[in-house]
Amino acid sequence: MESFQQIYEQLNAPQLHIRPHQFDFRDLDCLFFPERRDTHRRLVDCDSVRYPDRADVANVIDAVCNHDAPVYAMIAPAFVGQFSSTVTPGKLRDAFKRMGFSGMIEVALFADILTLKEAFEFDRHILTEKDFLLTSCCCPLWITLIRKRYIHLVPHIPPSVSPMVACGRSIKKLSPTAVTVFIGPCIAKKMEAKEPDIADAVDHVLSFEEAQALFTAMGIDPERCEDDLRDHSSSAGRIYARTGGVSRAVQRTLDRIRPGRPIPLRAIQADGMRECKALLNDVLEGKITANFLEGMGCPGGCVGGPRRIL
Ligand code: SF4
Repeated sequence: MESFQQIYEQLNAPQLHIRPHQFDFRDLDCLFFPERRDTHRRLVDCDSVRYPDRADVANVIDAVCNHDAPVYAMIAPAFVGQFSSTVTPGKLRDAFKRMGFSGMIEVALFADILTLKEAFEFDRHILTEKDFLLTSCCCPLWITLIRKRYIHLVPHIPPSVSPMVACGRSIKKLSPTAVTVFIGPCIAKKMEAKEPDIADAVDHVLSFEEAQALFTAMGIDPERCEDDLRDHSSSAGRIYARTGGVSRAVQRTLDRIRPGRPIPLRAIQADGMRECKALLNDVLEGKITANFLEGMGCPGGCVGGPRRIL
């Protein structure tokens, strides 16, 4: 297998003809070589900032102000539009760097990778009309509901970590001393990050509200930050934030890796805890003919999360 260094050098090879407006391999420097670039661009005097008196926020402030190792903002797929409609991913990345983060990584990129895994899991496990999978690995409320109340259905959950955990672990693999901060609309993610078997991945979790409060306290206006129009994830990864997004992403991938599969993917979704329970009860009563069941704990999915801004 190629090392990250080899992949990096290949991306730099002129024969790939990658145009700078499509992809700048130096964007990877914040992950691969944090010492090489001006990644710690904190423009704020931390001692002068009055920030919300919450433990998570205080821990993040301490990390960006006092930690020598890189600190990464891992932004949830639901971020699009949260910090106003004119704040692009590029502006938000610059805003986090001004705060003192080494870089902003889109968790949607890891949703893209897990989509491929979910498609392969479907292809491996759905072999008869009676087989079915319970996705989505990204929602801790849905997974906890199944583990606690529908224990007989646990074998139908594919063995995947959430995109948040995959993102945190990848960063720690590349930069073992890095501090990882997940930022999203979800309270349940704060608990997920502390689960013993995955506690290695994410050091701190902030809500969008808390991140916005920090921007305000530090006098950083994301709307006025520098833009960068290059995408760091696909639209399929970003639609994980909406009910049905996982199903659509996996369907598209399955169509490409196994076109004309004898048993097609038949998806059904539930959002909100009441609907999720109703769906699982229907499964137990044999009323469901779908073979790919997607649950999201909040109405509409993560875009309806309790700590969203808009
Ligand atoms: S649907 Fe709600 S509970 Fe589930 S991951 Fe998204 S914000 Fe969190």
